[in-house]
Amino acid sequence: MIPGFRIVCLISKELKTKILEIMKSLKKEWNNFKRKIKSKEIYLFLDLDGTLCPLRRRIDNVVLSADKRMVLEKLNSLDNVSIAIVSGRKISDLQKIVGIKNLVYVGNHGFELQGFGGQKTVTFLKKFKRYEKLMNKIKTNLEKTLEKYNGVVVEDKGITLGVHYRQITQKMLKEVKCVFENVVAPYRNNGKVLIRSGKKVWEVRPPVNWNKGRMVSWIFAQVLKKRRINAAAFCMGDDKTDEDMFKEFKGNRKVCTIKIGKKIDHSNAGYYLENTTEVADFLKKLYRFKSRKESV
Ligand SMILES: [Mg+2]
Repeated sequence: MIPGFRIVCLISKELKTKILEIMKSLKKEWNNFKRKIKSKEIYLFLDLDGTLCPLRRRIDNVVLSADKRMVLEKLNSLDNVSIAIVSGRKISDLQKIVGIKNLVYVGNHGFELQGFGGQKTVTFLKKFKRYEKLMNKIKTNLEKTLEKYNGVVVEDKGITLGVHYRQITQKMLKEVKCVFENVVAPYRNNGKVLIRSGKKVWEVRPPVNWNKGRMVSWIFAQVLKKRRINAAAFCMGDDKTDEDMFKEFKGNRKVCTIKIGKKIDHSNAGYYLENTTEVADFLKKLYRFKSRKESV
């Protein structure tokens, strides 16, 4: 074994234990939570890929299982629970996968919104619409230069782009990253776009301070202001972009932030669930509790 390698392993194991000591398991804390949320209206902000659905090699192979769809429908039918699906995908994509009417959909990392306050059509936040032309130009360039790399997918989302590399080999990654960098660097260096990375994806976005976190905290503030209710929210996600939501709600006692994953090396969330099965179990427990089938 290379000297030093073991030390790195031990450090990262120790770091992981420390992080999991700071973050609490929502599964283990459920009984404490029941008392806290008993009389409260609940808002659920749920990411899709990696949170409600397991990740797949191809993004178009991601499906929401029938039992998860059923529990979401049941929860959404309760007067005291509201659900928003919050994703980097386009809303048209989310609707195909989730397939539930009367939910709030936040798509494109917070740049698209539908269903909030009964609004039926997808709203592109107008002030960001001017970036569409530039994104289209970058998309054409990326498609042309990345065409020869089998398995790289350029996802066109109007005012943002996603470049997915889940299907390529580690060996090919260096070269693909270099090609991607060459295309986007001039725009990024001139402050025309922002580059973010997630799980096996690079995102090209407008250079503005707007993201999932900003959108979700705006929605929750509107809910509290308009209805003056005693509300609590659960906010779940598995990726770096979900950290924007966790950061936004840090220190907010009304919101419980939950990172989904087994290998968590850094997070602003207060709690964790290990995988999408634990998420489904939590949603089922929440439904039983809020529909009064389970007592405190
Ligand atoms: Mg995700």
